[in-house]
Amino acid sequence: MQLNYIANRACPSGSGQTIAVVDPSDGQIFDHIQRSNAQDIDAAVRAAHAALDSTWRKFSAAERGRLMMRLSLKIGERTEELREIEQRDCGKPVRQARADALALARYFEFYAGACDKLHGDTIPYLDGYSVLTWREPHGVTGHIIPWNYPMQIFGRSVGGALAAGNTCVVKPAEDACLSLLRVAELATEVGFPPGVINIVTGYGHEVGDALARHPGIDHISFTGSPGVGTLIQQAAALRHCPVTLELGGKSPQVVFADADLDAAVPAILNAIVQNAGQTCSAGARLLVEQAIYEPLLARLGAEFAKLRVGPAAMDLDLGPLIRRSQQQRVAGFLADARAAGLMVVGEGKVVDTAPEGGFYQAPLLLRDVPVGHRLAQEEVFGPVLCALPFADEAQAVALANATDFGLVAGVWTRDGARQFRLAKRIRSGQVFINNYGAGGGVELPFGGVKSSGYGREKGFEALHGFTTLKTVAIRHG
Ligand code: NAD
Repeated sequence: MQLNYIANRACPSGSGQTIAVVDPSDGQIFDHIQRSNAQDIDAAVRAAHAALDSTWRKFSAAERGRLMMRLSLKIGERTEELREIEQRDCGKPVRQARADALALARYFEFYAGACDKLHGDTIPYLDGYSVLTWREPHGVTGHIIPWNYPMQIFGRSVGGALAAGNTCVVKPAEDACLSLLRVAELATEVGFPPGVINIVTGYGHEVGDALARHPGIDHISFTGSPGVGTLIQQAAALRHCPVTLELGGKSPQVVFADADLDAAVPAILNAIVQNAGQTCSAGARLLVEQAIYEPLLARLGAEFAKLRVGPAAMDLDLGPLIRRSQQQRVAGFLADARAAGLMVVGEGKVVDTAPEGGFYQAPLLLRDVPVGHRLAQEEVFGPVLCALPFADEAQAVALANATDFGLVAGVWTRDGARQFRLAKRIRSGQVFINNYGAGGGVELPFGGVKSSGYGREKGFEALHGFTTLKTVAIRHG
């Protein structure tokens, strides 16, 4: 049985209720988390405020950095333990779960080093004045985290907030709490004062909502679906609480006829297969110049047919989806595709030994998906890639921009001038030229435009979002 983690202590929810934890690889219940309520959130927010006033504000930036570095090293030591927890809780194949734990350590390493490099400015002004700016923490930051990359998103969001001097209340997704509860214990072991990192588990519409509405929360970092993002904004707007929104995507991979296909093919495949397609920045739309449409689809179709899906511990190309309802959601999209007569170019296979109760979905490549079809517009959040040809550069840009989202884009071409034109004209938070994702890039600011959200996490840029700027003007004559 898992408990909440408030002020460095494991504590049960006052609700007396729990939520079952299911292993996506076999559908079996293996643990329980607390189904917390608004009173638990209140206790966590109080603990975070007490920590801010009693200890955390008194840490120098360098001391904060040293402590965060100790946590990074501890996570590094415990990589395999965290990997095993995540593998079971989220159904992540071994390599993916390990990569997430290593990324978490890297986020804390990066933000540890950033603590004492964040500073304000001096501004030339009228004679007799000196003007300076201070970057101050918001205070207590709330972090609402989705289930697809709990450790990575905790790392970038909480890591940035702590580096900027905030204390944190974290609400993980109900399907993915276990690794973060363990990380909070590790933080205590390395010396984090009580109340700096607090974790409260439960349902979004209960504790997530209570967190978003709590008057003691000074900033909200929300990563999740656009629909819930709207609810968070509405709740925050009532008390003018600043929000960072990291929402969904329907990101294009744009492939021109002059592209290096040997480099592009594995990257296109990985961008939709990684984490079974449950990635906000998944490359879910494949836009291909007409001249190479057929040969590229033939090649990718053959690659899709080789993909294997199975239990996380088998460490195949894909693990299961997170839960039954997600599996049903993806199946619903595919039923629509069949009803519309969309053609499958290639399909992977769920291995025969995969347990009956697991939430498996074979990866699929679909062709000629009309731009207005929901498969070309909505986030499937599963391993489904939709292909469409384009005639020229102008059409490529128009198609790349033809969704409500704008998170990430990939462009494959050897033409240098075209690389820049596409990078400028595609509306998204990140554009990758002749690569996709740049290996994760803890250092690289990340976030969206349009329905993919606003504000940036990752990199040094995130620290601006986790601080507020104060201008101090001194008239000294
Ligand atoms: P979700 O929006 O259902 O849930 C996200 C979090 O919000 C969970 O912790 C959930 O419990 C909580 N929540 C749900 N309802 C709430 C409410 N009414 N009030 C407050 N909190 C509430 O999303 P999900 O299904 O967990 O994750 C998948 C989504 O997250 C996808 O849309 C994906 O693209 C997005 N995502 C975005 C990024 C990014 O950086 N842009 C990264 C990862 C995931």
